[in-house]
Amino acid sequence: MISNRELFLKNTAQTSSSPRLFEIEKAEGVYLYGPNGESYIDLVSGFNVSNIGHRHPKVIEAIQQQLEKYLHVTVYGEFVQAPQVQFATELLALLPDSFQSVYFTNSGAEAVEGSMKIAKKFTGRKEIIAAEKAYHGSTQGALSLIGNEAYRDAYGPLLPSIQFIRFNDISSLENITTATAAVVLEAIQGEAGVRVPTLAFMKALRERCDNTGALLIFDEIQTGFGRTGKLFAFEHFEIVPDILMLAKGIGGGMPLGAFIARKEIMDVIKENPMLGHITTFGGHPVSCAAARASLKVIQQEQLLASVDGKVALFRELLHTPKIKEIRGLGLMMCLQLDSFDQVYAVSSYCAENGVMIDWYLHCETALRIAPPLTISEEEIRIACKIIREGIEKFC
Ligand code: PLP
Repeated sequence: MISNRELFLKNTAQTSSSPRLFEIEKAEGVYLYGPNGESYIDLVSGFNVSNIGHRHPKVIEAIQQQLEKYLHVTVYGEFVQAPQVQFATELLALLPDSFQSVYFTNSGAEAVEGSMKIAKKFTGRKEIIAAEKAYHGSTQGALSLIGNEAYRDAYGPLLPSIQFIRFNDISSLENITTATAAVVLEAIQGEAGVRVPTLAFMKALRERCDNTGALLIFDEIQTGFGRTGKLFAFEHFEIVPDILMLAKGIGGGMPLGAFIARKEIMDVIKENPMLGHITTFGGHPVSCAAARASLKVIQQEQLLASVDGKVALFRELLHTPKIKEIRGLGLMMCLQLDSFDQVYAVSSYCAENGVMIDWYLHCETALRIAPPLTISEEEIRIACKIIREGIEKFC
């Protein structure tokens, strides 16, 4: 019989010539399980999605309850669906008052697309500014913001009127002008290899946007929902963006994204023409029910309060001169090595020994560490022992 692995290679689209090819039978808590009893501690969290671990029982229960009521009923924005309404209300209660309206999407890239549209229409300006080494998704609008020419060149022409600044470089903020509709920025650059900006840069950025009338859009698709030890990473930087984009971790493992703004900004999609931004499945009731449960888990299990201690333990156990730098904020971490060969060898060794780690799109010389926030001290110790062994062997 032809195996699933062979069918994967034959019948499903390949996004690289070297997929990792782990077959997954089940996932629970911080563990991924293979079909032959293999188990892996998941230090990737499905790329910053499984912040409360896989298949949290409270999320499964909420999904089951919603399954008994309704699945998809109509396009977004027409019927009153309690899971959407309640989750939007809960999100807004956690945010500063300037956030007043939530638009739910299926994914991060769609949140980026919607945010750019409302920023352009609200300001009447056309130019968007992004940062070098940024990643905001793979749809054509989001890809226009990717701070990596190879991707832009391969799929051009993309959106016109996109300019770039250097992340965390105050001098490059002068590129933001009165022609700028919006600056789209990751609160912490993820795929660039976890680059945490300074407080001074973030304050100067906010000031420059205020002075030029450009909207500030934060991409918290990777950093959001507790990953950095606060629910939203912008809370670390004493500034508030005009539009906030979320996805990945908010759905508790289900597909969900959102962009959130002041009501007057969001209202531009209502008229001239009406129905200015439509999605069939965005804010799916099952995803919103899962998201509500996931938020409750973060709050009730006080996961944010446990992050600093877990980070300190990772840093203590991974302290070795062979790791050039440990960058990060909260449980969004990055171990800087010297080469991709080292990264590949260490991550392969880890996988062979039951620990799943990965690397970054624009920084292949660093290991990605982003475990579920629910990881225990014992699991951190087991994982770090394996990582250290791999590093001693291959670096
Ligand atoms: N923004 C950031 C910072 C991301 O890391 C990603 C995905 O990795 C996206 C946007 C796009 O999200 P999605 O893959 O859900 O479209």
